[in-house]
Amino acid sequence: GTDAEKHRDLLAAENERLRQEMKACEGELRELQRQQQAPCRDCPHLQENTKLQEQLSQLQQEAEETRAKLVELDLEVQQKTNRLAEVELRLKDSLAERAEEEERLSRRLRDSQETIASLKSQPQQIKYIIKTVEVESAKAKQALCETQSRNQYLQEQVGMQKQVLKEMEQQLQRSQKTEAQLRAQIMMYEAELERAHGQMLEEMQAMEEEKNHAIEEAFSRAQVEMKAVHENLAGVRTNLLTLQPALRTLTHDYNNLKRQVRDFPVLLQETLRSARAEISQAIEEVHTTNRELLRKYRRELQLRKKCHNELVRLKGNIRVFGRVRPITKEDGNGPEAANAVTFDADDDAVLYLLHKGKQVSFELDKVFPPQASQEEVFQEVQALVTSCIDGYNVCIFAYGQTGAGKTYTMEGTAANPGINQRALQLLFSEVRGKAADWDYAITVSAAEIYNEALRDLLGKEPQEKLEIKLCPDGSGQLYVPGLTEFRVQSVEDINKVFEFGHIKRVTECTNLNEHSSRSHALLIVTVRGLDRSTGLRTTGKLNLVDLAGSERVGRSGAEGSRLREAQHINKSLSALGDVIYALRSRQGHVPFRNSKLTYLLQDSLSGDSKTLMMVQVSPAEKNTSETLCSLKFAERVRSVELGPVSRKAELGSWPSQEHLEVLKTLLGDSPGSTASPGRGHASPSPGQLSSRSASIRRKLQTSG
Ligand code: ADP
Ligand code: MG
Repeated sequence: GTDAEKHRDLLAAENERLRQEMKACEGELRELQRQQQAPCRDCPHLQENTKLQEQLSQLQQEAEETRAKLVELDLEVQQKTNRLAEVELRLKDSLAERAEEEERLSRRLRDSQETIASLKSQPQQIKYIIKTVEVESAKAKQALCETQSRNQYLQEQVGMQKQVLKEMEQQLQRSQKTEAQLRAQIMMYEAELERAHGQMLEEMQAMEEEKNHAIEEAFSRAQVEMKAVHENLAGVRTNLLTLQPALRTLTHDYNNLKRQVRDFPVLLQETLRSARAEISQAIEEVHTTNRELLRKYRRELQLRKKCHNELVRLKGNIRVFGRVRPITKEDGNGPEAANAVTFDADDDAVLYLLHKGKQVSFELDKVFPPQASQEEVFQEVQALVTSCIDGYNVCIFAYGQTGAGKTYTMEGTAANPGINQRALQLLFSEVRGKAADWDYAITVSAAEIYNEALRDLLGKEPQEKLEIKLCPDGSGQLYVPGLTEFRVQSVEDINKVFEFGHIKRVTECTNLNEHSSRSHALLIVTVRGLDRSTGLRTTGKLNLVDLAGSERVGRSGAEGSRLREAQHINKSLSALGDVIYALRSRQGHVPFRNSKLTYLLQDSLSGDSKTLMMVQVSPAEKNTSETLCSLKFAERVRSVELGPVSRKAELGSWPSQEHLEVLKTLLGDSPGSTASPGRGHASPSPGQLSSRSASIRRKLQTSG
């Protein structure tokens, strides 16, 4: 009985252990589930996990079922154990009974054996008794009988006992058989239990394994996934890290763009403004370039003009300038005072006259517009002026109708002096500049030609008519005996001279304006120089002539002195024209003597000289007829050739043989040409000779 009990206890303990293990497993499982759930909450492989969980729960269910089965089996085992206990109890009882019975039986058997033994020992007694009985007989016989019956009974009793024993033995055998059977059954149960237990263990093991496997698998998968996720995360992180600067730059760019977009209108405005500024600058530049080009063009033009002038100088031509005075108050306000003269912006040698609705253009050597200052005018003249220092004769005429500005140009005003004063000033300064080598003497004379009479404006007797005579020295030079000459050395000197002459003129004329318009006023400046080192003497004459008004006097209204005046004026001006014409056409005879003016200026108009005709015109509408005449005269004069210019120089003595050689060499550069015996324009082909050699040749001829 204790074996079974021990076995049952063992089973119960095993069961308990299993239960606890199960519980621990459950706990572990829950823990694992929790663990599994926790990190994988955000895992994208949750599905997999749930699947695994499902599997797990299925397994758990199976485990539950198995547990239920186990409980069932447990119960069965319990029942069987109970029954077994019962059976064992019964068996024990029956065994106890049997033991008792055996005890009793063995006691009885012992008793019986004792009895038998005693009885066995008794037969001798019996025999004795028999013998005694026989001896005692009857009594013995009865006692024998009784003993025999009692023996019988005992024998019966022993048989019965033997049968009981047999029965007992049978019962024992049966009980033993039952026990064996029970034992076998228990063994079977035990085996079954063992098997169930093993099965359960196996199942549990399998389950455990499966669970572990599943968990492991899930774990490893989760780990792998986790790793992948981590890797992904790391990748994403690195991506993020690399993306962050990109994002930053993008954001920056975006902000920049936003700012740009925001600033765009302003920028556009700015750009437009700057573009406009640039454009205007470019335009300005173009303008500047244009201006520059224009300036260059003008300079070129000027250069051309200078070249032309040089050509003119070489050819000895008369140069003709035009000067247009401004419209003045005296011109009035009506249509008669309208401006009729226009200019060419790019060519300062051209002017246009609107005459009777037609525009006539004139080309002179230079045209001074109304706004040209005395200074500007003088600048164009000063080269001419200085050349008389070098021994050239120079003639500057102011030609034009009365009121056209002749006197303004020549004399000017006190505040704004004209050519006369400026020329003298220039001569002074030039002479001063050459003082180291040269001695100069500048003298001035002032004369007037009125009605063909030449009068000294600086003389003591102004009414005296002066004559023009040839120099007795045979040089061909003219001179006016009695003409007062003042040596001037400063501006103050000439101012005094002018003042003196002016006062004279004013006091001698009742109407100076009228008088001056009908007379030619001459300022004759003579510059005599001596080169101290070479002994070379030069004489240059600068004739500054304010001509009488060129207007044509109406035949009808003019009579008496007016007519005479007009005739004289016409005569002298037309004589000037004739002389110029003769010079131009290279006629052998030049009618210098036809008027006092041309005669007086003969040496300044002929070939060696430089002549400037300043044609003054009025721009007023009412003066267009006279303006037209003046400009036509100017154009006519301009084309005249005077021949090569020569310098009036006398060599006191040749400084050296070397100098002569140089001159000869210079002459020798045109060996084919024959030296002309005449002077200036009379030369048959002055163009064939270089002006320099021609002039030198002339000089040599003159001095020889
Ligand atoms: P002309 O001597 O030819 O008769 P004037 O020299 O007396 O003429 O000039 C007539 C008027 O015109 C004067 O009042 C003079 O001051 C004025 N005039 C002439 N030319 C100019 C000029 N270039 N600028 C200013 N005024 C001038
Ligand atoms: Mg005048």
